[in-house]
Amino acid sequence: MKLLIVEDEIKTGEYLKQGLSEAGFIVDLCHNGLDGYHLAMTEPYELIILDVMLPDVDGWRILTSLRDAGKKSPVLFLTARDSIDDRVKGLELGADDYLVKPFVFAELLARVRTLLRRGVNPTNEPTLKIADLELDLARHRATRHGQRIHLTAKEFALLELLVRRQGEVLPRSLIASQVWDMNFDSDTNVIDVAIRRLRAKIDDPFEPKLIHTVRGMGYMIDAPDGTS
Ligand code: CA
Repeated sequence: MKLLIVEDEIKTGEYLKQGLSEAGFIVDLCHNGLDGYHLAMTEPYELIILDVMLPDVDGWRILTSLRDAGKKSPVLFLTARDSIDDRVKGLELGADDYLVKPFVFAELLARVRTLLRRGVNPTNEPTLKIADLELDLARHRATRHGQRIHLTAKEFALLELLVRRQGEVLPRSLIASQVWDMNFDSDTNVIDVAIRRLRAKIDDPFEPKLIHTVRGMGYMIDAPDGTS
């Protein structure tokens, strides 16, 4: 699940990005309003975390432009200002929620999950499916054959990526950049280990096997005809 953070305070932005990544989200971070606006216009984010006070285009103008352009991704405003006027203005412009700095990360995460649960995500697919495997994106839950499967945040993110692009061979480098947000030029072992763990949970106890290794290329999730 992909989120965008627009925050000009470098430390705050990095802190949010790290926390949300650890919670299993794929996070893009940018530090000014213009970049944020362009990213939000071109990428299908499930949620946008938008700082109000930005050096170039402020959060209000970004939100107004996004809504005018028909972009419906939920927006959570962050601001240091705590007046009734600001709250009212933000909500009138179409912000979905509002968080006043300083805040604790746990509260931000709770708000993010609540907004995502409302199901107004732009891709309009609260669950992803392949064969009898289902991913509930808002609740971060996986089930196979009706049985709950406990996954770590990274395992869920990896599985989500594979299922979103089912039938497609994903190179290790792509998986590394999408799930770990890093380039694994030398050490793709991390990915192989994660795939092995994922297989042990979602494939070993079940038939048919869904995760496939494509030698020399990468990994793919796919179901035999007629099961998905
Ligand atoms: Ca700011």
